[in-house]
Amino acid sequence: MNLCTLKINSVSLRLGLALIPAVLFFANRTAIFAAEVKPISSTSNSSNWLQRWQAENKVWRGVHVMLGNSNAASGLIDTLPKLADLGINALVLEINYSFAFESHPELHNGGALSKEEATRLARACRERGIRPIPLFNCLGHQSWSSRTGPLLTKYPELDETPGQFPENKGIYCRSWCPQNPKVNEIVFALLDDLVAAFDADAIHVGMDEVFLIASPHCSRCKDGDPAKLFAKAVNDLHSHLVGERKVEMLVWADRLLDAKTMGYGRWEAAANGTHGAIDLIPKDIILCDWHYEELVKYPGKPTDYDSIPFFLEKGFRVWPCGWKNVQATEALLDAEQKHKHERLLGHLCTTWGAVKVRDLAEWPPIRSATKK
Ligand SMILES: [Zn+2]
Repeated sequence: MNLCTLKINSVSLRLGLALIPAVLFFANRTAIFAAEVKPISSTSNSSNWLQRWQAENKVWRGVHVMLGNSNAASGLIDTLPKLADLGINALVLEINYSFAFESHPELHNGGALSKEEATRLARACRERGIRPIPLFNCLGHQSWSSRTGPLLTKYPELDETPGQFPENKGIYCRSWCPQNPKVNEIVFALLDDLVAAFDADAIHVGMDEVFLIASPHCSRCKDGDPAKLFAKAVNDLHSHLVGERKVEMLVWADRLLDAKTMGYGRWEAAANGTHGAIDLIPKDIILCDWHYEELVKYPGKPTDYDSIPFFLEKGFRVWPCGWKNVQATEALLDAEQKHKHERLLGHLCTTWGAVKVRDLAEWPPIRSATKK
């Protein structure tokens, strides 16, 4: 299985089902992962809670979980004590359209998480000292397989490739048009709903694996610079979320890496010209730098996760992310140790459906990562 296939498999789980978490922190990497978790007894997203969380968690130990419905949220709440015991202090909760948006009720999937359920989950997280960070996929990932997501189904005029690729054949995922002003009008309202429901002080806007950008099928974007268009999407979101809503903003970092110079494949780095956006976006954005396989799989290429020092030297905070391959995670953790820096936040473990929520504490990567 090559990385491409592997990544497709991982993502195929995204739009599917419920989900799960995991994490990894190796005890012998004490310089990065030694901080002790101290539950913070608060039930609100007051600035006081956040200040205490920041003071007591110099290392971000995160798990990324997909929440496709309320059952998944309930299961996660039951699992929180075990996650807290393992030292987890942040959860990236991928919601996308599985939420009962008050601003746009026409845009949520069936079985969506209610506002009350989201609030209950967020409160339960904070009671365990875990920072909840909702995730909504922006720009790309607006379809999977033959199924197009709610936004472009309800508003097909917002599609970057309107009327093209029937049944989504021949493409990976649809994108929305970053230059259609109606996109922001709708999406900002959706993000506001999530921020309110989770009382969020940080939000992840996705933006990974955007392949359809500056499309010749878009009257606005054809002949455009992919880097500038990607940066516009990032900057518009940043202006709203960080500028107006005063929350922190996270993105997957793959579109900000040049596949040619970094030595990564075209999934975990960009081969479609978006990488120049790295110099066009604010430095306070947190970059989630995901790498799921050992880099030795790219003969003759860098083997030390050079994206980490690259992003650090650019002035960003970096949150490296691994997945289910324990050896790859160990290699990534070693690289994190080597490049230790105050802006290298810690480690985020993605799960992509590889483990059920109730089995998280026993999942081999977690057991391996947390063993003393
Ligand atoms: Zn466009």
